[in-house]
Amino acid sequence: MGSNIVSDSQNAAAAGSRGLLVMGNWKMHGTLADNAKLLEGVRLASGETEFAVCVPFPYLAQAASELKGSAVTWGAQDVSAYAQGAYTGEVSAAMLRDFGCKWVLVGHSERRSMHAESDQLVADKAKAALAAGLIPVVCVGESLDQRDAGQVHAVIARQLAPIIALGVDSLRQLVIAYEPVWAIGTGRTATPEQAQEVHQAIRATLKSVGAQDVKVLYGGSVKASNAASLFAMPDIDGALVGGASLIADEFLRIGA
Ligand code: PEP
Repeated sequence: MGSNIVSDSQNAAAAGSRGLLVMGNWKMHGTLADNAKLLEGVRLASGETEFAVCVPFPYLAQAASELKGSAVTWGAQDVSAYAQGAYTGEVSAAMLRDFGCKWVLVGHSERRSMHAESDQLVADKAKAALAAGLIPVVCVGESLDQRDAGQVHAVIARQLAPIIALGVDSLRQLVIAYEPVWAIGTGRTATPEQAQEVHQAIRATLKSVGAQDVKVLYGGSVKASNAASLFAMPDIDGALVGGASLIADEFLRIGA
């Protein structure tokens, strides 16, 4: 395995175009045996939609080996903001590149809430990922309390601010995922209209700094039966998929 499995220019091109991207987030699920079966199914992906899986760190080598030669790319679910050093338990972006990763999630709501990740730390992680030639998938989204309090746009603007501050060249090389926290793993999906409203606002923010072509994924209980109506929205460029990415057939049907 080498860091040249996916070139930096391929990465930049993939991040910057708005073709459909369906990305699985396995979270902390899997065994070598279960993954082998799942990846055997996932690697059959073909067609226009780009499929990717973000797997737990210990299974990156397995993903690299089982997906090699397929159209499916892979990545990790977190990365250190630091390049190297005395950071016990952390994994650097360069290490992820060594395992052929194209993508890395940053700022997933489970990390923001359970590991107290700040908006600035998420941006620092995105910066570290970009410096190593990875595409950060920056997750943003409001809680139910924040939605009920009418704070959706303020929360998203606050989470995006340090990402926007990275500058337009960086922005053009990353992906945003809008994941309302109340829709993650709950079976309760945002309606296409609710999602589009937020995606449109994110797109307007990106456009205001010249980065309107950045992909904006939706995440939150996406499955094969609700994907098409979400993807029909003009500012939704694909999905970040948790639970449904653990069943190969269901996952592939999301992007079919
Ligand atoms: C996620 O983990 O990012 C996610 C969206 O999960 P689920 O699809 O299970 O809601």
